[in-house]
Amino acid sequence: MSSPPSIVSGYDPKNDPARKPQRSKDPAWRFGYWPNLQNKDEVACTLCGGSVRGGIKRLKQHLAGGYGDAKLCSGVSTEVRTEMAAYLDANKRKRPLVLDDEVVEVAANEAPANEAAAVVQPSSGTAAKKSTKTKEEKHYVDTQWALFFYECGIPFNAAVARQFQIAVEAIAQYGSGYKPPTPYQLGDPLLQEAVKSTSTMREEHERAWKHYGCTLMSDGWSDRRGHHLINFLVNSPEGTYFLESIDASSEVHDAYMLAGLLEKKVEEIGKDKVVQVVTDNGANFKAAGKILMDRIPTIFWSPCAAHCLDLMLEDIGNLSEFKKPITRARRVTTFIYRHGRILSAMREKTGGADLVRPAATRFATAFLTLKSLYKHKDALKSLMVSEAWTGNKLAKTKAGLDVHDIVLST
Ligand SMILES: [Zn+2]
Repeated sequence: MSSPPSIVSGYDPKNDPARKPQRSKDPAWRFGYWPNLQNKDEVACTLCGGSVRGGIKRLKQHLAGGYGDAKLCSGVSTEVRTEMAAYLDANKRKRPLVLDDEVVEVAANEAPANEAAAVVQPSSGTAAKKSTKTKEEKHYVDTQWALFFYECGIPFNAAVARQFQIAVEAIAQYGSGYKPPTPYQLGDPLLQEAVKSTSTMREEHERAWKHYGCTLMSDGWSDRRGHHLINFLVNSPEGTYFLESIDASSEVHDAYMLAGLLEKKVEEIGKDKVVQVVTDNGANFKAAGKILMDRIPTIFWSPCAAHCLDLMLEDIGNLSEFKKPITRARRVTTFIYRHGRILSAMREKTGGADLVRPAATRFATAFLTLKSLYKHKDALKSLMVSEAWTGNKLAKTKAGLDVHDIVLST
């Protein structure tokens, strides 16, 4: 604190024009001034002689009353209270959007809020200005974004996407009055530009393909309507580049057609650049890989390692030593997960943890299931003797008795 201005000299800080902003329309300045010019976060109240921290907005709250973190002024009249409350209310909506006199004042006068660290500061070259906004102001902006996410069904983790942070920063840099693109702009001119810049990106990848050679990768999957789609990707030291996704429903069962498809892609990239082709290990792809190696001798076909391991685990799972426990484990998990009340009793026992359940096409999960059952063995045993189990009619069915025996015998 600097030494208080002398009263003896006749100087009254309340009347010092230097202790208020020059051209503020904010009505609260009629009752406030900066008692300490080194810290304009603090605003003194002429009605009660106290002071508030948090700038002129906090003084308004002090005068209006009804704000948890600002104590009501002891010297304020009902008239002033009403005036301040109305002003706060009217500005609630437009403040973050319109950078009027009021907001400029607030920005200039308020110390960095505690949540400044939480403000996105992407290293996009333009150093983000230190936040001088209040908690309430940040909360308002947060709320608006949240509603946008909810209304448009945007996945929450889109909020951590780097492009989201860059876009937000870009708006902040632009300042007030920014109008977002229209659906037309998004769908046409901006899209065209984005496509063009992707081609520039491809050029960089192509240089790497030429310099180091590259791997053509294909990843097949089926959608819910039974279409078989294949993604084609090219990997090089520059990274992985997505070529395209095609509907190969008619080709996928025919090794020659698959080989033709792969060959076409290789030719698009350049036979001299592609050194390897990686596909999953399905019989058709395997055969297609062989055909391709015959047609283009400089190319080597490799099966996808993850898929390979999965197939190995499938074979291991079919050995009698494993087959029985896996079947039994599946019976336990299927039963528990089919019955809501038993499932919630189980989660109580495991402390909220879920069991890993085997999936149809991922054989690794069969082993993960065994591991997870082993881990929760005691919890499952205690479930079998609990009220939730013994009092449940399902426990007395054949399947229920089976599960009971399996769990207690291990
Ligand atoms: Zn006061």
